[in-house]
Amino acid sequence: MDFRLTEEQEILKKSVADFVDAEVAPIAAELDEKGEFPHDLFRRMGEMGYYGLRYPESYGGSGLDSLTYCVMIEEIARGSLSVAATCAMQSLMGTYFVFRFGTEEQKQRLLVSALRGEKLGTFGMTEANAGSDISAMETTAVRDGEDYVLNGSKMWLTSGTVADFFTIAAVTDKQKGADGFSLFLIEKGTPGFNVGKKIDKLGVRASETTELSLDDCHVPAGNLLGEENAGYDCLKEILCEIRTMTGALSLGLARAALAEALRYSQERKQFGKPIGRFQAIQFKLAEMATRIESARHLVNHAAWLADNGLPNTKQAAMAKLVASEAAVFVADEASRIFASYGFAMEYPVQRYLRDARFLLIGGGTSEILNVIIAKEIGA
Ligand SMILES: Cc1cc2nc3c(=O)[nH]c(=O)nc-3n(C[C@H](O)[C@H](O)[C@H](O)COP(=O)(O)OP(=O)(O)OC[C@H]3O[C@@H](n4cnc5c(N)ncnc54)[C@H](O)[C@@H]3O)c2cc1C
Repeated sequence: MDFRLTEEQEILKKSVADFVDAEVAPIAAELDEKGEFPHDLFRRMGEMGYYGLRYPESYGGSGLDSLTYCVMIEEIARGSLSVAATCAMQSLMGTYFVFRFGTEEQKQRLLVSALRGEKLGTFGMTEANAGSDISAMETTAVRDGEDYVLNGSKMWLTSGTVADFFTIAAVTDKQKGADGFSLFLIEKGTPGFNVGKKIDKLGVRASETTELSLDDCHVPAGNLLGEENAGYDCLKEILCEIRTMTGALSLGLARAALAEALRYSQERKQFGKPIGRFQAIQFKLAEMATRIESARHLVNHAAWLADNGLPNTKQAAMAKLVASEAAVFVADEASRIFASYGFAMEYPVQRYLRDARFLLIGGGTSEILNVIIAKEIGA
């Protein structure tokens, strides 16, 4: 068993880390404060090839594996979870379905530009009454000659305010529950497709999130991605990768919080010595580091299984569960170590604390992950 990253992965990690230190971390606080999508940085990351890591070279990608992808995502999240969440949407859920099920024309026009950072893709499944329970989805798509007509609304679309193309889930056979929805490609500007206002959020504030409505929105039948009623099967292809990737996002944020806490514990003096000399603080730091390291093993293992063609439903759920809970724990402990300064907007710790909450939701809540794990172990 070899737990080391390959030389290629180490080189990529270093290169992404340098980029993050130079171009992401210095503006993370400003992006958070403004709560605006970072257009320039988004394009820069396209130039750096970050969106195409998992896609074939024929579309402008670099055809790398899931573990390498996690290494990249973790580094970006260390600088800014907002930026990393945007990158994750663009490099995975926002583009995958066009890559896998789109026509060659759609791929050339949308996927290739998206991987360069010239167009933005996103994915919309969640609705006001359908979050964890996708069988409660109410948006419908009805065949009408050469078109499908979509009606309904979606919530919580990452990058929805700025996206050029959307993969939207809609019910095509109500009797079939979760097996009765399909995926549709919808481009910005399609009549009847209305993107709402951005949602004012607690965290990941520079990753703009929106709701949208579909009012008699006609899309050509050629925009059906995958087979009719196969939406869930399509989604299942990347669900484990989404969870593993969210684990990597969590590791990045947790590492940033630990680094800040460690630094502060060596600077801040009380009772005549740095607070890091008190065992109570040392034990906090030790536990933070241990939880990050444990989570990393789960994340890397889940990615390794996928890269070796092995099933990883249980491991990906565990990786996401443990890593996201670790991120929240580490951010909270960092805040305690900073005490009143952890409460001040001037320091990044409060941002880690706010951003970390998102990790408990996207890719499945902790409760839902436990439901999956319980099922996997036959409980
Ligand atoms: C910042 C952000 C970005 C997002 N981006 C996207 C996006 O791009 N596209 C998209 O489609 N969605 C997106 N989402 C939505 C996200 O995927 C959903 O919020 C998530 O699936 C949970 O749904 P919900 O919030 O409706 O919670 P609910 O499903 O209503 O859950 C409420 C509570 O009940 C618990 N619960 C629910 N069912 C069970 C059960 N069976 N057993 C035990 N507990 C249960 C949950 O764990 C939770 O604690 C985003 C969300 C956020 C916050």
